[in-house]
Amino acid sequence: MKKLNEEIIINILKNVKDINSNNNIVETGTLSNIIITEKLVSVILIIKNEKNLYANIVNQCKKYLNKVDDSINYNIVLTAEQSAKKENSNNNMKNGIKPEGVKYIIAVASGKGGVGKSTLTTNLAVSLSKKNIKIGILDADIYGPSQPRMLGIKDEKPQQTENGKITTVDKYGVKCMSIGLLINEDKPMIWRGPMVQGALEQLIKDVDWGELDILFVDMPPGTGDVQLTMSQRVPLTGAIIVSTPQDIALIDARKGLNMFKKVDVPIVGIIENMSYYECPKCNEKTMLFGNGGAKKTAKDMGVPFLGEVPLDIEIRINSDKGQPDHTFHEDNKIAIYFDNISDNIINFIQKTNEKNSNVPIIKFE
Ligand code: ADP
Repeated sequence: MKKLNEEIIINILKNVKDINSNNNIVETGTLSNIIITEKLVSVILIIKNEKNLYANIVNQCKKYLNKVDDSINYNIVLTAEQSAKKENSNNNMKNGIKPEGVKYIIAVASGKGGVGKSTLTTNLAVSLSKKNIKIGILDADIYGPSQPRMLGIKDEKPQQTENGKITTVDKYGVKCMSIGLLINEDKPMIWRGPMVQGALEQLIKDVDWGELDILFVDMPPGTGDVQLTMSQRVPLTGAIIVSTPQDIALIDARKGLNMFKKVDVPIVGIIENMSYYECPKCNEKTMLFGNGGAKKTAKDMGVPFLGEVPLDIEIRINSDKGQPDHTFHEDNKIAIYFDNISDNIINFIQKTNEKNSNVPIIKFE
């Protein structure tokens, strides 16, 4: 059997005709991307008309692809080009994408990259899992997915279920889906905003998330169109903003906060990361990037402050090695910071429940 590559697949898909013309889907630009992994080939099509008109195209794609290699699973992804304009700022949007078994979706965002957003997402998820909360992470940082590495699952591959959904990869009691699990981490992706959006929606909808109390969405850094559209299309229960204490990071954090406020997404609160460094020898604390800035910003903007996390060598090593559970051993002084913040997240959800008593309630065991 020939090893499948992009060129082979493009040539096969030239047999499939577009619905509006007699031209094939490669010529018309309907075929927008191909993602090949060992057992799964995802073909991404941009659709311009109603989704149901594309059933025939999807069947044709599958038919031709199966002829080449029927031992591989094919996932045909339909993505719509969307305007990044404000579509529907109502958080209880009717057409929002929410997997059935997921109770609450919380975005973890930052105004800029490198502030530790993904690191905190991983560690907070592990902390919540230890409190018997059913937790998942959607790594929506499509340009630089880091959850596969931080959860130590980068060599694992999702499978396809009988009903065509993609399975999550689970570790430390956390269910994860990331574009990094579907593509090679080193392969640069050049995707335009609307395509990114479509792929993200697909990762939420077509993944078998099972029953989850909370799904964290590790957002791409920044406050551009992708983040804005994401906050509009996914029914977010709330958003967490991660910032370091520097002024420059806090300016960007404010932008992030304002973006969520603009689209009526409730703010769970701000977390200050890298608040200080404690010398392991003399226990002296050094405020490398200043300290307390995020707490003050939270106060100024009238949103909760969820807590601080110090700059710590163990956090760095354990996260980057994909063994966050090592941070949670009993005599580790660092776990307490994550446990306090995860308590605050649980409190936020309990308050949301009280406000809106017809939403499902998390059970704490
Ligand atoms: P972001 O998601 O905001 O781009 P990352 O979570 O990828 O940032 O973190 C960037 C780097 O900083 C990683 O190598 C991570 O291990 C390290 N890091 C993040 N938070 C801390 C912390 N509190 N202490 C030590 N290292 C940290």
